[in-house]
Amino acid sequence: MQKIIKEIKYYNCGYCTNNLKLVFKKHKKEIKKFPAGVFLMEHPKEGYILFDTGYSTDIYNIGWKGKLYNLFNPTYVKKEDQINIQLEKDNIKCSEIKYLILSHLHPDHIGCVKYFKNAKIIVSEEAFNTYKKNKTKYLIFDKLLPDWFEQRLTIINDNELKENKNKYFTYFDLFKDKSILLTKVNGHAKGQICCLIENKLFLGADSSWGNSFVGKAENFRIFPRLIQSNMNDYITNDKLLKKMQNDGIILCFSHDTYDKEVIQL
Ligand SMILES: [Zn+2]
Repeated sequence: MQKIIKEIKYYNCGYCTNNLKLVFKKHKKEIKKFPAGVFLMEHPKEGYILFDTGYSTDIYNIGWKGKLYNLFNPTYVKKEDQINIQLEKDNIKCSEIKYLILSHLHPDHIGCVKYFKNAKIIVSEEAFNTYKKNKTKYLIFDKLLPDWFEQRLTIINDNELKENKNKYFTYFDLFKDKSILLTKVNGHAKGQICCLIENKLFLGADSSWGNSFVGKAENFRIFPRLIQSNMNDYITNDKLLKKMQNDGIILCFSHDTYDKEVIQL
């Protein structure tokens, strides 16, 4: 069948480092870079769609919350790493992005939201409620967000996310043409939205740290367990990811590394 979305472009927009010895039981010391990934798609009728926005250098200028974040999660980002600059290099203006899907509102996903004032910003209702009521506890730093943020939001509620069902999950069909299916994957952050593109590629955000980590969540040490919003959900969904991986669905996570910048569907 003809694909509506033909390819996905991956951008690496800053990174943080973590020692895998602190993440997994029985793992040797290994400092690993975790890039903040952003994914770009183009829909022939709807235009450009961006999934998350990566880091911005603002993370160094938002006061004590940013400093604390940096202490536990050493972060490296330069101006030229920012998605707004990288899109410009590809001759895409930020104003041409028509939809911005935010998987969740952690700093490595919302850093550059402020450059996309023309976009409809899509978040789940659960993520939005967490943002309204319980920001700091759930690592949402509103100083990273522009003051017009709420005006541009399209909030997808739980009923919409349950409108349809496939063999893996219930979903919301964003453009009613099966090209982008939105689903909620809890565990890492409340109301995290992931996307199945053309039934072939899954944008998994932070539902796992990467393809080589899928199916291993039960080996997590206490530190990574503490930073998930619900570890039981995380492990349940880790098993679902394993199933999708075994079925040949391409899994793309925000902090994975990819050999190709453009993934054909
Ligand atoms: Zn996160």
